[in-house]
Amino acid sequence: MEKKKVIDEIYIPDVGSQVETIDGKDYLITNDAMYTFFRRTKGEFSAFFLALKNEKRLLGCKCTKCGIVRVPPFLTHCPDCNFAPTEMIEVEQVGIMNSTPPITYFATSLFQHMAPYGRGRVIFKGADTAMSINLYTTTGILVPGIIKKGTEVKLIFRDERIGEMTDVFCVPTAELTREQINKKGLQESEINWETPQEPSLPPASEEESNHYRKALDEMNGLIEDMNRNKSARKAIAGWKRDIQVKTRGGQFAIMIEDGDIRLTESVLSSPDFIMVCDDIHTLLDGLAYRGAITDSVINKKIWISKNMEFNTIFKLDRMARFLVRSKKV
Ligand SMILES: [Zn+2]
Repeated sequence: MEKKKVIDEIYIPDVGSQVETIDGKDYLITNDAMYTFFRRTKGEFSAFFLALKNEKRLLGCKCTKCGIVRVPPFLTHCPDCNFAPTEMIEVEQVGIMNSTPPITYFATSLFQHMAPYGRGRVIFKGADTAMSINLYTTTGILVPGIIKKGTEVKLIFRDERIGEMTDVFCVPTAELTREQINKKGLQESEINWETPQEPSLPPASEEESNHYRKALDEMNGLIEDMNRNKSARKAIAGWKRDIQVKTRGGQFAIMIEDGDIRLTESVLSSPDFIMVCDDIHTLLDGLAYRGAITDSVINKKIWISKNMEFNTIFKLDRMARFLVRSKKV
């Protein structure tokens, strides 16, 4: 097996410098490095992390005097009982949201590969305290309203575990089968991530169809501009995605391939993801840099079928921004 580095290769740029010209002025950019490496022991809490990693079990600590169960088990002695010792016990892997989780869409570089994710507190069955955990949905993009205070969730284990809190996350039990909910140590690969719940669109009136045709022409022109634009192309370098876009007036495809971007009026047999946007103008405005597409996704005006494709939406916003900026020069 290839040895994985602590810091991902993509965060380690080459040594050197470059000049970037913005609004006719030259700016010098250099790549510098700052490293801090350290070994860290989980010490007396190793049992909790080893149970997650090796046995797919969730442990808590129970006070031998008052019986309170704390999860995670990060107290060896109970502060409420004159420091009576606690003992490790296993708790269940289904719990209830203790609060409505905020959703992180724009994370720092350390966590961007995990975004968008919810971060909330769950009280698992058998526990008296809430555990902080990341939250996902299998229904498409994670937006407010899917997971709330009181939502029942299930603990899911990453296929590849290293003994960290990020080895586990939760999804709503409403998205799982009874068998999956009851299974202990359910892994991410055992969940169906490929059946998102696509919003349905009402049929278009004649006026709406005409409105769609006009907007589509405008969008096509814009995408051709992007395709010819050096800095816009940079935003999608090395990226390849076939996106099926469904709107009230009709559907089309946006294809991205390593700097190239094209719009075709076709129905793809296997798109990388689907975008549903009732009014084509919402997407058109985003591509024309009149409001961000990411905002439209967060505000539920645009739906995407895969949570992790928020990254692609982010790139489309960057293309729009780069195109507008380079036109100003
Ligand atoms: Zn106690």
